[in-house]
Amino acid sequence: MFEKKYDAVIIGAGLGGLMTAAGLVQAKKKVLVLEKADFIGGKYTEIDYKGYKVTTGAWSNMGKNSHIDNFCREVGANIDYITLKQIRKERGTPGLLGKIRYKNGKEFFPTSTISSPFSKSEMQEYSKVMIGLVSKDLEGIDRSKNTSVYDYIQNFTKSDKIIKLLDSLIGIASGLNTKTIPTSEYKIILQDSSGIASGNFGFPIGGIKSIIDALEKVIIAKGGKISTKNAVKKVLIDGNSAVGVQLEDGETIYSDLIINNSGPKNLLTLCGRNKFPSSFLKKVDKLIPIDALAIICGLNKPISEDVPMIITPDCDRIAGIFEPTFFDPSIAPPGKTMIDIFAPLKTKDIKKEIDLTVKDLEDLYPGILDPSNLDFQLNMVFAGDFPAAEGAQTFGQTGSDRIDPKLPVNNLYMVGAEAIGSGVAADLIPIGVCKALDYILGTEKWLEVSF
Ligand SMILES: Cc1cc2nc3c(=O)[nH]c(=O)nc-3n(C[C@H](O)[C@H](O)[C@H](O)COP(=O)(O)OP(=O)(O)OC[C@H]3O[C@@H](n4cnc5c(N)ncnc54)[C@H](O)[C@@H]3O)c2cc1C
Repeated sequence: MFEKKYDAVIIGAGLGGLMTAAGLVQAKKKVLVLEKADFIGGKYTEIDYKGYKVTTGAWSNMGKNSHIDNFCREVGANIDYITLKQIRKERGTPGLLGKIRYKNGKEFFPTSTISSPFSKSEMQEYSKVMIGLVSKDLEGIDRSKNTSVYDYIQNFTKSDKIIKLLDSLIGIASGLNTKTIPTSEYKIILQDSSGIASGNFGFPIGGIKSIIDALEKVIIAKGGKISTKNAVKKVLIDGNSAVGVQLEDGETIYSDLIINNSGPKNLLTLCGRNKFPSSFLKKVDKLIPIDALAIICGLNKPISEDVPMIITPDCDRIAGIFEPTFFDPSIAPPGKTMIDIFAPLKTKDIKKEIDLTVKDLEDLYPGILDPSNLDFQLNMVFAGDFPAAEGAQTFGQTGSDRIDPKLPVNNLYMVGAEAIGSGVAADLIPIGVCKALDYILGTEKWLEVSF
C-alpha cells in the first residue's frame, strides 16, 4: 500500500500536519500523511451529524489575511469567505462580530456609547484599557514580570464589570482569563484580530472544513499521499536520528524526515522518553493545558439575527456562543440554526461543569433547550488526555517559549498548536509550520509567508 521510503512522513492530519504537507509538496518532496482517525482535520473540521456540519473543535478562522489564510494562499489552497461587511450590506446588520448578553436578557454592543452596560466613567476606563491593549507599544507592561492582563488593567480600572467582560473576550480567544494570559500575548491576539473592527472578519463558506479540503486538494494534486485509519505506533530512531515509523498493523515505513502533529505528549510515547534530554522532557511534562467544554446545539430558531457571537460576562462557565449559521445557513438543514457554546473548565468534575454550563445557557435564553426548539445537543469534552490544547498560551508558554519545531533528535520535527507561535488559537499554527519548513528546506522565506 505504501512505498518503502518517503522524503517526509507526517504523523497526524490536523491543521498543522496538512499545512506542513502542503508546504513540502510545493518543494517537490514525496510526502505521506498518516492519520489515525477515519477523517482528516483533527480538531479543525466539521463532520456530518443529523444534516448539520458539526465542528470537531474550532469555530472559525479570522478570515482573509489571517496567518492561516496567508499560508493557504501561498500554497495555492484557495478559500472563499463571507465577511461581516458583506452581511451588513446584504442584510443591514451592524457589521459587528459580537454583542454582550447578560442573564437578565439585556444586550449591549461593547463599543457603543448609546447602548453600553458601563457608567460614563467605566466607559472612559474601558476605552483607555482597550486603547492600551491594542496599541503596538508595550507601555505599562513589565516584561521582566510578564504582567497579566489583570495586573495591567489595574492601571486604568477596578471595575468588576470591565474585568468580567475581558475575562469573556479572552476566554473566547484562548480559553484563558485576565489573570492567566500574559498582556504581551493578548496584545498580539488583539492585533491579529484587527480585521474584526473593520468588518473583514470572515467565515469560510462551507465551514472550516473547506480549509482542510483545500489543503487536501493541494497535497494530492502535487503527489502527496494522505492515509486515514492508519495510526502510527512507533517512531523508529537509529542512534540519535529518526529514520521511519511503524504502524499499528506492524508495517514499517522509512523516511528522511518524521514530522509529528499528534501533540507533544504523544511524541514522547511514540519515540520513547529515553530518546530526549531531560530539559525537553521537563518542558513537555510541565505544559499547562486548556480544558474546555463545547456544547453544540441544533435549534429551530436563531438566538441572534444581528451578530454571530454572544459574549457572556456574567456566566459562571460560558465565555461565549458562536452561531456559524449566521454566516452560512447551508451548514444546517433548511430553516435550522446551529450554536456552539464555549466554556473553559474550572474544575475536573465534568458533570458539574456540564451542569453549570447548561444552567448558564438556560439563564441566558430561557426555554432554549425545550424539545420544541431543540433538534440536538452534543456535549464535547476536551479534558484530561484529550485537552483543547496541551499547551495554553499562558506564562512561559507563549511565542518562542513554545516548543521549537526542530526537536532534539535528528530529522524529527513537531508542528501544531503546541509549537512556537502567538495569535488567535489555531491561527498561531502556521507560524510553527513555517519555521519547520524553513528548517527542513533550508530557506528563510516561509516565516514571512504567514505574516
Ligand atoms: C472547543 C474548541 C474550540 C476551538 N475554537 C477555535 C476557533 O474558533 N478558532 C481557532 O482558530 N481555533 C480554535 N480551536 C483550536 C483549534 O481547534 C486547534 O488549535 C487546532 O485544531 C489544533 O490543530 P493541530 O494540528 O495542532 O492538532 P489536532 O487537530 O489535534 O490534530 C492532530 C491529529 O493527529 C492525529 N493523531 C493522533 N495520534 C496519532 C497517531 N498515533 N497516528 C496518526 N495520527 C494521529 C489525530 O487523530 C488528529 O487528527 C478550538 C479548539 C477547541 C477544542
